[in-house]
Amino acid sequence: MPSSLRIAIVGGGIGGLTAALAFRARGLDVAVFEQADEPIATPAGPATPAFSRGDQGYNVHRADFLNLLFDALPRGTVTLGHRCIQLKEEADRVRLSFANGASAEADLVIGADGIRSAVQREIGLQSRPSSEGIMAYRGLIPADRLSWAGDLKDPALWLGSGRSFLLYPVARGRLINMVAFVPSDTDSEESWSAPGDLKALAAEYAGWDKPVQDTINALDETFRWGIYDRAPLPYWSTRRITLMGDAAHPMVPHVGQGAGQSIEDGFTLAVLLEGCSAYDVADRLKVYEALRRERTGNVQALARAAGKLYRSELDDPSEKAVRLREWVAQGKWVFEHDAEKAAADALVDLGC
Ligand SMILES: Cc1cc2nc3c(=O)[nH]c(=O)nc-3n(C[C@H](O)[C@H](O)[C@H](O)COP(=O)(O)OP(=O)(O)OC[C@H]3O[C@@H](n4cnc5c(N)ncnc54)[C@H](O)[C@@H]3O)c2cc1C
Repeated sequence: MPSSLRIAIVGGGIGGLTAALAFRARGLDVAVFEQADEPIATPAGPATPAFSRGDQGYNVHRADFLNLLFDALPRGTVTLGHRCIQLKEEADRVRLSFANGASAEADLVIGADGIRSAVQREIGLQSRPSSEGIMAYRGLIPADRLSWAGDLKDPALWLGSGRSFLLYPVARGRLINMVAFVPSDTDSEESWSAPGDLKALAAEYAGWDKPVQDTINALDETFRWGIYDRAPLPYWSTRRITLMGDAAHPMVPHVGQGAGQSIEDGFTLAVLLEGCSAYDVADRLKVYEALRRERTGNVQALARAAGKLYRSELDDPSEKAVRLREWVAQGKWVFEHDAEKAAADALVDLGC
C-alpha cells in the first residue's frame, strides 16, 4: 500500500533514479524532477575499476545504465524538462519551483541534482572545488579495433611519471573505456564532455607500452575532465530537505565510487522512510546523515589518497604496484558494507 508521505527527488541521474526504484519497492510515493528533456545518454563508463574482482564491482556504460533505470520506473514517475530553481520550506511542506514556470509540493525533497546542486544552495551550502593538479582524458573505443581487447576482462592500469592510464571493458565488452590522468597546471573544465585534443593526449604517453599507444591511435575523439576535490559538507539536511549522491558528497574518481555511494544513499533512505509519517521525517533525516556522512567522508578520503598514490613519484614502479595492492586490500570495507542492513539496525536502535 502506498505511503502517504509525498517525496520529490530533484535530479534523475544514477542517484535519483535508483533512489526512486528503491522507494517504490518499499511502497513509497515518489516523483522525480529532471532538468533534461530526455534521459541523458553521454557516453562514459561509471565503474569500480580498482576493485573489480569477482562479484565486487561492475563496469557499465553510463547511458545503458541510465536507460535501464529510467525504463524500470513506471511512466510518469520522472518528469523531464523540469529544472528546479527554488525550494520554499514551510512547516508542513516544501514548495518546488521550476525554470519552466511549473511548481510542485512535497513532504520531503531530496536533492540528487549532482555536483552543481541547486538544492545544496537552497539549504545554505556551497561546496568549493579545489584542483587536484591533474586532468583526465576519457574516451570509448569499439573493442573490435584492438586485437587484444577480447582478452581484457579486468581493468588494466599503467602507472608512471605522475600519469596513469586505465582501460576497462563496458557494454558487455563491446567498448573499452579509457581514463588517462595527466598533470595539469591549467584550470580544465569540470566536465564529462568537454572536447579534448588527441595529439596532446598522444604526446602525454609518448614512449609508453604498445597497448597504450594502440588505444590512443584507435580513438575517434577524447574528452577533457578537470579533477577537483571538495571538503565534506558540514550538514546535508534541514527538517524536510536533504541531499544525496554528488550533491552531498562529490568525490574524486580514483576509486570509482561516485555511482556506488549514491546508490547506497538511496537504499538507506528507502529503509529509513518506509512507513514513516510526515511528522517523523526530520528525525529520520538525522539518522540518514549519521549513517551516511561519516561513511561517504571516509570514501572521499580514500579516493583522495588513491589519487596521491597514482601520482606519486616512486623510482621503482614495482613498489607502486605493491602499494596499490595493499591499498586495494585495505579498501575492502567499501564493498563489504550493507547499506540496507545498517539502516535497518539504526531503526532498531531508535526503537522503531
Ligand atoms: C555525464 C556524466 C558522466 C559520468 N561518468 C562517470 C564515470 O565514467 N565514472 C564515474 O565513476 N562516475 C561518472 N559520473 C559520475 C557519477 O555518475 C556520479 O558520481 C554518480 O552517478 C552520482 O550521481 P548523481 O545522481 O548524484 O549525480 P549526477 O549523475 O550528476 O545526476 C544529477 C542529475 O540531476 C540533474 N539536475 C541537475 N540540476 C538539476 C536541477 N536544478 N533540477 C533538476 N534536475 C537537475 C542532472 O541533469 C542529472 O541528471 C558521471 C557523471 C556524469 C553527469
